[in-house]
Amino acid sequence: MLHKWEGIVLKARAYGESNKIVTIMTREAGKVACMARGAKKPTSRLAGVTQPFMHGSFLVQRTSGMGTLQQGEHFNSMRHIQTDITATAYASYIVEIIDRLVEEGRPEQYAFEILIQALNAIEEGYDPEAITLFVDWKMLPYAGVQPILHACAGCGAVDGEFAFSFTQGGFICHRCFHLDPYIIRLSPTQLKLIRMFYTVPIDQVGKLELKPQTKQFIKKIVTTIYEEQTGIRLKSRSFIEQLERTPLLQREKKEEN
Ligand SMILES: [Zn+2]
Repeated sequence: MLHKWEGIVLKARAYGESNKIVTIMTREAGKVACMARGAKKPTSRLAGVTQPFMHGSFLVQRTSGMGTLQQGEHFNSMRHIQTDITATAYASYIVEIIDRLVEEGRPEQYAFEILIQALNAIEEGYDPEAITLFVDWKMLPYAGVQPILHACAGCGAVDGEFAFSFTQGGFICHRCFHLDPYIIRLSPTQLKLIRMFYTVPIDQVGKLELKPQTKQFIKKIVTTIYEEQTGIRLKSRSFIEQLERTPLLQREKKEEN
């Protein structure tokens, strides 16, 4: 059967001398892997459209097992993401987290929307760090984590002072601080921001002007949830951390802006 799917290339790996196996997150069929014959050759008409981050329409022949990519046509080649090292780093992290958390074989509309909105936002020049945080929080349910953020995870109260508790799985109020000796106290602003990252649509998050230390703080919490509660550690996280520690790259980035 021949399928026409809208999708985004998550990754492509070499297969044999001239082929690639391409993993595409599609709107209609979820995550699919397919063989792109000859796509490793620069002259192949499949060479361009099988690059990571490519958003396009993909014609796939599949009966059972792995399909074969027949044709591809790109809507958006994500030029900024492909050429700006910071944008590439964050976008790599985003496609990796989607790839790790989404299983093949069934449509995943929610994850597809998060992916496409996030990459478009980075492509349009929104703060890639904030967009990545948004993806981290939004994808938690796919990792089997549903943090309790609307009320106290201990007693259900909605008023009072709050802290984040990893053992209680979300916010707890001052009346319940005794439940966890390792709580992370939150200011009302931090509380509101974390809630926002988890609940509001991406276009609102993208417009936020966040201080670097605020992003670092929120990132620390969500990264700890992934690492401690799901055991997921993403390769591209190390690249981002390296980038953040490299003053030369930071300087280059400023000069470009
Ligand atoms: Zn409580």
